[in-house]
Amino acid sequence: MIIILKQLISEAQKSAVKDFLKKNGFKVKEIVGQEETVLGAVGTNRIDIREVAVLEGVSNVIPISKPYKLASRELNKSDTIVQVGKVKIGGQRIVVMAGPCAVESRQQIMEVAAQVRVSGAVILRGGAFKPRTSPYAFQGLGEEGLRYLREAGDAFDMPVTTEVVSPRDVDMMLDYIDMFQVGARNMQNFELLKEVGRTGRPVLLKRGLAATIEEWLMAAEYLMASGTDQVILCERGIRTYETATRNTLDISAIPVVQKLTHLPVIADPSHATGLRDMVAPMSLAIVAAGASGLIVEVHNNPDKAFSDGPQSLYPQQFDKLMRDIQALCPVVGKSLERIPRERADVEIWSNQPTLVPSAQTLKIAFQGEKGAYSEQAIRMVFDEMADTMPCRSFSDVFEAVQKGEARYGVVPVENTLGGTINETLDLLNSHPDLTVVGEKQLRIMHNLIGIPGTALSQIKRVFSHPQGLAQCTDFLTGELKHAEAVPFFDTAGAVAHIANLKDPSCAAIASSAAARHHHMEILRDGIETDSRNFTRFYVICREEHAHVFRSAMPVDRVSMVFSVNDRPGSLFEVLQILSTYGLNMKKLESRPIPGKPWEYAFFIESEMIDEKDFVKATGELVNTCASFRILGTFHGDRR
Ligand code: PEP
Ligand code: MN
Repeated sequence: MIIILKQLISEAQKSAVKDFLKKNGFKVKEIVGQEETVLGAVGTNRIDIREVAVLEGVSNVIPISKPYKLASRELNKSDTIVQVGKVKIGGQRIVVMAGPCAVESRQQIMEVAAQVRVSGAVILRGGAFKPRTSPYAFQGLGEEGLRYLREAGDAFDMPVTTEVVSPRDVDMMLDYIDMFQVGARNMQNFELLKEVGRTGRPVLLKRGLAATIEEWLMAAEYLMASGTDQVILCERGIRTYETATRNTLDISAIPVVQKLTHLPVIADPSHATGLRDMVAPMSLAIVAAGASGLIVEVHNNPDKAFSDGPQSLYPQQFDKLMRDIQALCPVVGKSLERIPRERADVEIWSNQPTLVPSAQTLKIAFQGEKGAYSEQAIRMVFDEMADTMPCRSFSDVFEAVQKGEARYGVVPVENTLGGTINETLDLLNSHPDLTVVGEKQLRIMHNLIGIPGTALSQIKRVFSHPQGLAQCTDFLTGELKHAEAVPFFDTAGAVAHIANLKDPSCAAIASSAAARHHHMEILRDGIETDSRNFTRFYVICREEHAHVFRSAMPVDRVSMVFSVNDRPGSLFEVLQILSTYGLNMKKLESRPIPGKPWEYAFFIESEMIDEKDFVKATGELVNTCASFRILGTFHGDRR
């Protein structure tokens, strides 16, 4: 059952509720949500829930209708984020795990690890105990294989996962691995599940060959009831009458399971299809279906693989797949997880308090109210837990970062429909202490948001930022032509406004996050006229903090601003330098210089070159330009 606690419950009352439940044989788990705190109580005993409902501090008691309780979405409305080493799985991320079916030798796992790491895998897989159909087939290297796997994971900075097949190996394996994998054949090996669950270590739980979704979730429940809440579900194909592929990938299981559980769901296109050529298309389908990631078999020499060669990707195929996934992610509102995701997170979320200067400086500033698109970008760059700081204007964001009230700022710089956000460029130009350290692109998906239960025909006024309104013209002049479009300060603020008005004739256009934040209903989603609507954001910070963020990802973009002398060919000379040094220009924009009528500053974004050449190039640029400044260097998010 779920016990919803009153907001003002005292600690003593809460303890009394917990004690009462424990005395009656229940296991109790406290879940602190953004809006409410609940206790989940599971056990075999039956009591009349009214006995709990009357306890002091209890607001409501709801029985969990599903047979799986701890795994149920009813218990925990928000997505669970599982942490494996420093990689987080769940939420908006796409996490790719890759490696060979089996660890075959030290050299083999080292080679594959190097290759998948370069392409962007963040967790290394490799079997040391192989549950083979034939007892005469390669059974895995056992503990020796675990040693090599650990060594490769450490060498290439990837947490590792491997299959556990026997309860007797569980404790030994703890020394080597970051996540247990429970294979399809063992999904209902309950003694194994209990042993693994007891360790509290993350578990990747494959779906059984012939398991229903409910049986699969019951297996997750075994793990959770035994002591871990770090469970990832993995769809890996089920047995059907079809023989063209090894198994049948049940893509629909992904959204189904996401509705039923708060645990992250990933999929394994390799075992699902058994065929190398099917792996890439299925991987993209898995991402499009909303999964939190993939586990893919990659081998340095698939033709010689000891197991599952025909389904193992060549490293270059995996590399191509990663680039395709990277391109797809923003389209489906996801962000591809890269290692190290340390960047600022480490500084912010590290357990080492010495790295955290003071609570105040950890904030990340953005323009708008809670639920703004900029805040969504922050969640993607940093973390669900990032301490965001709403600001009234772009200028306030820059000031907050300048003064150290916020460590970072995230500001839009360009929209694919609306073009450059000039104010951001001007502010960058007028804040020499601040620098660009990162980039994130976000697909803008607009929603019509209203008071729950409102019909479209009731709506008379629609509030949103002028850009938001402009981007939904077809919907506003079509189905909603009876309503008046009212410009508002910002999109998320418009939702706050209608939530305040409590008038069903008023609606807003904003992100789904804004609707959730204000407990409003999405009356219609995807109402933007052009679905290819992306906004690109810059992450800014003070120069002295820049190295932390930058050191985490390879820098491959540079943003610069310059002005030229008033004589023929001066711009040409600058472009000539860029050309000589191979600085491939991605964007060129001119802006009037404040206080100097009819004079212009030029903004350039370019691909980054070798550090030494770059220093030489900037030396020449400084000499040639009337003024020149590097606005920042960063890891580009557009591929
Ligand atoms: C594996 O991942 O190597 C494996 C054996 O997978 P499954 O349990 O899904 O067959
Ligand atoms: Mn395999």
